[in-house]
Amino acid sequence: MSGQTVLSLTAGGLVLGAGVCAWAAVSPSSDLFGRAVHRAGSPRSIALTFDDGPNPAITPTLLDLLDRYRARATFFMIGRHARSQPALVREVAARGHAIGNHTDTHPNLIWLLPARIEEELARCQDAVAAATNVAPRWMRPPYGFRGPQLSRVLRRGGWAGMVLWTRAMFDWKPQPPDRMIRRMARVRGGEMLLMHDGDPVIERSDRAHVLRALEHWLPRWADAGFEFPTIDDSARPPLPAEAN
Ligand SMILES: [Zn+2]
Repeated sequence: MSGQTVLSLTAGGLVLGAGVCAWAAVSPSSDLFGRAVHRAGSPRSIALTFDDGPNPAITPTLLDLLDRYRARATFFMIGRHARSQPALVREVAARGHAIGNHTDTHPNLIWLLPARIEEELARCQDAVAAATNVAPRWMRPPYGFRGPQLSRVLRRGGWAGMVLWTRAMFDWKPQPPDRMIRRMARVRGGEMLLMHDGDPVIERSDRAHVLRALEHWLPRWADAGFEFPTIDDSARPPLPAEAN
């Protein structure tokens, strides 16, 4: 093997290595940077998750809609929104939904030092716990972006883990509801859906398309026999009878 071949193979390895790391940092299905829950846990379930709230313009109506179909969901809240809407945070918990930590200000965690990540998580924990007396056990990194330091922070902090998704609904900008309704036709049992009831910056963001799309699909999914678990139910190991 010539020196030149070795050099180009090494360069190829480096490029491949960098590609794998980039994929692991942003892919919702990668476990390379720490184990994560991605799915609903049962093919008879669809796990609904809502990020970037609470949002006083939408979240109360969303809670009523979920109640109508006995659906439970997980709300990954932003600390600074939770701090300004403590009554709404309490209401989400009182209706039986799970609340997860989505950091305090929604930064990209890939480049943050562990101490800064801990601070972001702690401020969000404080905001939720001040409203509900319960601190979240699960977190979702903003944009799903994470580096190897995040799983070390979560292990050290005794977290249950991080939560990603199987399918993003691309709902973070206002849009005609029909577009989201069509996208949701691809959802299958066992999936965990990434949706948004809020916005990282705007406190009262327009998420009417999310409500309209769920008004369309929740009754259809309920009729088909699907259940809607929180993250705690999704992450629960299957009963022995179900494992066979
Ligand atoms: Zn987010």
